[in-house]
Amino acid sequence: MRKNIVAGNWKMNTTFDEAVTLTKELLNLEKQFDKNTEVVLIPPFLYTKTLVDLTQNSKIKIGTQNSANILEGAYTGEVSAKMIASINAQYVIIGHSERRAYYNETNQILNQKLKLVLENNLIPIFCVGEILAEREANKHFEIIKNQLIEGTFNFSETDYKKIVIAYEPVWAIGTGKTASPEQAQEIHTFIRNLIAEKFGVNLANEISILYGGSVKASNAKEIFNNKDVDGGLIGGASLNAKEFTDIINAF
Ligand code: PEP
Repeated sequence: MRKNIVAGNWKMNTTFDEAVTLTKELLNLEKQFDKNTEVVLIPPFLYTKTLVDLTQNSKIKIGTQNSANILEGAYTGEVSAKMIASINAQYVIIGHSERRAYYNETNQILNQKLKLVLENNLIPIFCVGEILAEREANKHFEIIKNQLIEGTFNFSETDYKKIVIAYEPVWAIGTGKTASPEQAQEIHTFIRNLIAEKFGVNLANEISILYGGSVKASNAKEIFNNKDVDGGLIGGASLNAKEFTDIINAF
């Protein structure tokens, strides 16, 4: 059975003290969390080790928002998968649309990152999604297919099983617009079918596919209710402990 996952992407938000306070608030609420949902906090890089330590006696997992496409060496400012693994963080977001758009991360670069994340036994959350113009031109299926094939399809079945996919329509990220439950289900089924064509139905059924894009406590239920939606990658709403807890409990 595939896992339900709710992951909070804090992006470049919170000071150190705010990050610690938010984590402690969530630890206080943890007993209310749905037991069948894996909860992941993804703070700015600088706070990762602190959050790993704060959550070590809990079920909350910690991730990072990025990792380098090279293992180590003279690459000023980069953080490698090996470093992330060395502090016991467990998840890494790869290919968030903000990384694709503002830092020119191509499918080829993301594929290199994914390889290193898998080699270091971390769990990648690989993001795909179309921009508004692509949806309006009815190109969203083609775009997502390309992102998936070029970004992820060269791995073995054993590696592929460890990948989590996040469908994040770019027009719904931070905009307050959410894909309708039907739009989300349609793309999630499309993604699962592509994985099934390449790796078989059994493997495709094991892959968690998260939805991301303006998910809030008020709309999480109707989105998570779809059979191919296995949770969410949550931006803005993950910065409030009560709101995030309500999203975790929306299954
Ligand atoms: C995200 O950062 O992945 C995201 C989905 O953001 P938001 O929930 O704020 O739209």
